[in-house]
Amino acid sequence: MAKVTAVLFDFDDTLIDWSGRTKTWEEISRVSIGNIHAYLTDAGHTLPDADTCHQIYHNLLKQSWQRANETWESVRFATVLRQTFTNIGLDPDQIDLEAVMRVYDWQPMPGAVPYNDAAAVLTRLKQDGYKIGLITNAMLPMWMRDIELRHYQLLDYFDVRLTSGDVGYIKPHPAIYHRALESLAVAPEQAVFVGDRPENDVAGANNAGLISVWMNPPHLSNQLNGIKPDYTITQLNELLPILERLD
Ligand SMILES: [Mg+2]
Repeated sequence: MAKVTAVLFDFDDTLIDWSGRTKTWEEISRVSIGNIHAYLTDAGHTLPDADTCHQIYHNLLKQSWQRANETWESVRFATVLRQTFTNIGLDPDQIDLEAVMRVYDWQPMPGAVPYNDAAAVLTRLKQDGYKIGLITNAMLPMWMRDIELRHYQLLDYFDVRLTSGDVGYIKPHPAIYHRALESLAVAPEQAVFVGDRPENDVAGANNAGLISVWMNPPHLSNQLNGIKPDYTITQLNELLPILERLD
């Protein structure tokens, strides 16, 4: 068996505990789209009221994720924004998307925190010489999700970080795993992937040839539905004896 040299993680519900979140997606995006609405209005554009714009954005987003889950082609934030602009009568080519994304002002979700042992486990992996990666199914570009990693003081642990929005494919598509492994110069069988969603994280890792670890803490209610992880853990530090055994 090849020696394991890399450990890759999913982000949400795997490293970060979302169970204490105090706001819904809709509450968050209403404020953020309101920021964009104000920015565009100030720039002299004529557009429907902020609530209408938010509703159009929200519907497009929902449709885009439904399609992504069928095709495994990722939703991309820039694409959804451009579609929203078209739908509210603006020419997306006339709008500075980079500026709009900054105005959106993505922030860590209130109430979401890293699991208690996340930093300790990542520190230990680093000390033991593992390469560490992060692969998240997220429409946002990585620089936006880095805002959260920086806030949680986790950013510096990672040798590679990918969002599906940047790569173009969501987990379980093998391309996103292979992209991460290529950048680490690690073969799939030398890598462990840890994630909470069986149909995305575990099935994808299995298909891409990685060793799969299902993160299944008691507060989540994910079902395997026939998907077979190589290992199952209920908290991150249970990963350490598994890696010792694989060594
Ligand atoms: Mg997750």
